[in-house]
Amino acid sequence: MEELVISLHMHTTYSDGTGSHSDIGEAALRAGLDAVIVTDHNVLVGGRERYYKEGRRRMLLLIGEEIHDQARQPQKSHLLVFNARRELANLAPDPQILIDNVRRAGGLSFIAHLYDPECPPIKEMDISWMDWQVQGYTGLELWNSLSELKIQGKSILHILFYIFFPAFLNRQPPAQHLDKWDELLKTGKKMVAIGGADAHALHASAGPLHRTVYPYEFHFRGITTHLLAPSGLSGEIETDRKLIYEALGAGHCFVAYDLPGSTRGFNFTAQGREATALMGDEISSVGGLTFNIKLPQMAECRLIKDGKLLKTWKTRETCTHISTEAGIYRVEVYRQFLGLRRGWIFSNPIYVK
Ligand SMILES: [Zn+2]
Ligand SMILES: [Zn+2]
Repeated sequence: MEELVISLHMHTTYSDGTGSHSDIGEAALRAGLDAVIVTDHNVLVGGRERYYKEGRRRMLLLIGEEIHDQARQPQKSHLLVFNARRELANLAPDPQILIDNVRRAGGLSFIAHLYDPECPPIKEMDISWMDWQVQGYTGLELWNSLSELKIQGKSILHILFYIFFPAFLNRQPPAQHLDKWDELLKTGKKMVAIGGADAHALHASAGPLHRTVYPYEFHFRGITTHLLAPSGLSGEIETDRKLIYEALGAGHCFVAYDLPGSTRGFNFTAQGREATALMGDEISSVGGLTFNIKLPQMAECRLIKDGKLLKTWKTRETCTHISTEAGIYRVEVYRQFLGLRRGWIFSNPIYVK
């Protein structure tokens, strides 16, 4: 399999971002990404999907959308929509109808920043997801880079610190996200986890000081989603779009925080008697399974089964576990960075029947 590094969830001047599609394309190319998915609020911007190239490297910019009901106060329940290829924002008042239509159009939908509490120091409201009765969406944005500012920003001093020292911001997906994901997985649903930037490149001013808060390129080197695809990008846009959305839809991916160190090369598989499962796949436990975890470098690796910690390895690059038990298995990896233990890699689950 080929590993493709993508950043998703970002805004341009078509909604509340400050950059253009080409600013994003150039920044993503500089950051070494394979693809980005731009998701302006409630508008599907047409005619902007294309490759950005430098030498032999290419980066594909794709367009999705972040949809919510703008008449609702506060404006909660944001849904990331990819590959529907039609404007569906008019369906926002009923999230279930919206999700059903995304699916019917061959698209994918992910609940964005599920826990996004109010942040009084910057007068930001709670915009968490509220409509948990919905069914049929693809998955969850397990880690959202920007909304962590609202969680960590307990005072204006904290906010200023994280604006001027952005590398200190991201720690790990909120416990509320991990708990909700495990709870939903326990109901027997497949639930794909993705990592989102929520990049806006906002401009902030305080007296004579002006600053771009979290430039696009900062996010592109931070929380990303790594896909495992049967091949690399071909340079043919229809083929590559399909390759990316199929890998995302199948959960053949992991959520990565690349700033502490590149997560390229991580892998989590289950080897059965007759088949091998990737992250996102289902496999039978009959005859026993060997889980193989490969880390890019030594770090604290945790194997989780049905939401409970099963095993921890602290000083290995390769971890194995043998099992005959059905369940939902996923991996979390942590490492030290800037004085704190931080989340580094969160795999999608392997579903053992
Ligand atoms: Zn949002
Ligand atoms: Zn957003």
